[in-house]
Amino acid sequence: MADPNKRLPFNVPGEFFVDRTCIDCDVCRQLAPQTFDQRGEFSYVRAQPRAAEQRRRAWRALLCCPTGSIGALGRNRARTVMQDFPLHLGERVYYCGFNSPKSYGGHSYFIRHPQGNWLIDSPKYLPYLVKRFEEWGGIRTIFLTHRDDVADAHLYARRFHSQRLIHRADRCAQPDAEVLIEGRDPVVLTSDFVVIPTPGHTPGHAVLLYKNRFLFSGDHLWWSRTHQRLSASPDVCWYSWSEQTASMIRLRDVRFEWVLPGHGQWARRPVEVMRRELAGLVDRMRMGRRVSG
Ligand code: SF4
Repeated sequence: MADPNKRLPFNVPGEFFVDRTCIDCDVCRQLAPQTFDQRGEFSYVRAQPRAAEQRRRAWRALLCCPTGSIGALGRNRARTVMQDFPLHLGERVYYCGFNSPKSYGGHSYFIRHPQGNWLIDSPKYLPYLVKRFEEWGGIRTIFLTHRDDVADAHLYARRFHSQRLIHRADRCAQPDAEVLIEGRDPVVLTSDFVVIPTPGHTPGHAVLLYKNRFLFSGDHLWWSRTHQRLSASPDVCWYSWSEQTASMIRLRDVRFEWVLPGHGQWARRPVEVMRRELAGLVDRMRMGRRVSG
């Protein structure tokens, strides 16, 4: 829990506050945008939540903050709100919550699938989540988009005897992974799941396409709240921006309506909008225009 003595001075007074340990991961601003905003390299409370739904969202943000940098004065509602997680997004897809500082607050997702459940990247390893996953039938497969966001995947794999998938070029983050993705061609795993290698952010970055609707995009691309479009950025490209551009070009024909990133905003738009947005992003990347945001 956050420390009131380290409270940032620009929080508005009231129930919620952010302290100086904030790492500016953006999670709270996504989950409770009416409450949290950005200032410099921190998030802060821009407006105290009033309506019940806004307060619930603020509590969700408190629970998901990877560094415990959000505090709340008064009655502790964490236990009640915890039950919202994993948070349903669409069809059988859920956002796990409880983002890990080991992945700099990266998102992770869960798919309840009749042939065995999937975890995409990893949340913190917590008894509460273990119990929920257990109730839902465990985890058969853990897909790791890239080496930065593996967090506690090995602990979930050990607990549920899951098979972990990661690209060979990012194997250093999970040396005992059970399945290695090779090369740059898409790998059709089942009729529902396709792994598409997308080197760039890291050498072994890969995205997962589920049912031609949900694209788990890791740190390859995300939805920009500011510009309301698909985005990527050389500022967070650790390996090769030219490779990332080439990977983005190879994604142009992929059909999807959800983008579910590791960092940045998730979003759902019609297929034709996503296709148009991706083409626009490729153009901006090719021409070296500003692409982030
Ligand atoms: S979730 Fe926590 S660490 Fe991330 S921006 Fe908000 S307060 Fe900062």
